[in-house]
Amino acid sequence: MSHPELYLNEKIETASQDELISRQNELLKEKVRYVMKNNAYMRNLYEKAGVVAEDFRGIEDIGKLPILAKANFRETYPLGMCCVPKNQIREMHMSSGTSGTPVVMPYTIADLHQWADCMGRCYRMAGARPGDPVQIMPSFGLFNGGFGMYHGAREAELFVIPTGSGNTERQIRLARDFNTRVFTAVISYTTRIIEVMEKMGVELPSLEIGIFGAETVTTAMCEKIHARLGIDVYNIYGMTETGGVGTLGMDCQDHSGIHVWEDQYYLEIVDPVTKQPLPDGEVGELVVTSLTREALPVIRFKTGDLTRIISREPCACGRTHVKIDLISGRTDDMLIVKGVNFFPSQVEQALLELPGVHSEYQIIMEESHGVNDVRILVEAEPGVTGYVVEKHLKERLGFSPKGEVLPVGTLPRVDGKATRVIRKKLD
Ligand code: ADP
Ligand code: ZN
Repeated sequence: MSHPELYLNEKIETASQDELISRQNELLKEKVRYVMKNNAYMRNLYEKAGVVAEDFRGIEDIGKLPILAKANFRETYPLGMCCVPKNQIREMHMSSGTSGTPVVMPYTIADLHQWADCMGRCYRMAGARPGDPVQIMPSFGLFNGGFGMYHGAREAELFVIPTGSGNTERQIRLARDFNTRVFTAVISYTTRIIEVMEKMGVELPSLEIGIFGAETVTTAMCEKIHARLGIDVYNIYGMTETGGVGTLGMDCQDHSGIHVWEDQYYLEIVDPVTKQPLPDGEVGELVVTSLTREALPVIRFKTGDLTRIISREPCACGRTHVKIDLISGRTDDMLIVKGVNFFPSQVEQALLELPGVHSEYQIIMEESHGVNDVRILVEAEPGVTGYVVEKHLKERLGFSPKGEVLPVGTLPRVDGKATRVIRKKLD
């Protein structure tokens, strides 16, 4: 059944896979020509790889294009991959630099519309209706979160409360004063909100929708937030290189995977080492191509994010765009201890399964003479012991990190992306 109010652009969001693929094919051909014509760095890169713009046939030839990485942005900092003259740039954002190198993304007017369209679709998909108060709690600044959610909220005709990050008590007061229905935040900040609400002894009865992203979101965390706030929790996805938050997509009310906006982006899942394509269903690294961006369209950008294709079939929500799994981690996040590989998200999932364990934790990786040891610091109620934590992690992860239980409120709280892994060298 069609629910027009849940779409920003119903025709495109429900277009057939055949239509989407044929559109992707045309746009990819155009984009390859476009970057070769308008950017010397890309032209040189492609010419070296033997790519001839006029001969490029679209998706069937995509394997001929070299894969781009953050290193290409680093080499061309600040605007060496930009395809438009500087006087056409209207805004810029920069990555949070989680993996060291900030990436600059310039936007033309058309890019700002494209961003607002993708992000606006996400709001509607979550059930936000015109006029709904939305509190935008990621920071407004170089980090793309605040502005992306703002541009999208304008497009979806919401009532914007642009609080930005921090000042948690005021966030809660405003949410009560203005009956905020939609919360948007970096997921780890939500646990801060809950703590402060409890300290203030207040609830947020009008809150119904939470849109969270920017970092790994485990199902355990979503369930915890859902249980505590009684809201429907959405996992929004995007990155600086694709044009910011929401550009790639979000899960729908069916919560059966993240719909990626295929009329705007082309996805490949590849083996993180060999870069060879993987069949649907297998977990690998997401490689993404921006089909419609103007200032700096990335073509075959390796994101470092690990996921898999869940389904290309039409979804219960009516949308036809491919669904991918929640991001389980980043290739550069993988930790290796005593021969066992694991991701911080697995630690989080395991910890949150334990009754009495709170959401704040840190993974301390200590290296001594080339050997890694790991300690997990976690906040929990009295009664949860280090032994209980160790035993559970051993069962779930296959090795025994040392578990240290701390009183609630001990670990540092941040307003942006949480730092979960701390590396120390002991020799
Ligand atoms: P970075 O953190 O790489 O410096 P960004 O601020 O652009 O740069 O953040 C984009 C990255 O954040 C993504 O590549 C991904 O690793 C992570 N991210 C964003 N949204 C999600 C999400 N919903 N789930 C998991 N990870 C996410
Ligand atoms: Zn759906």
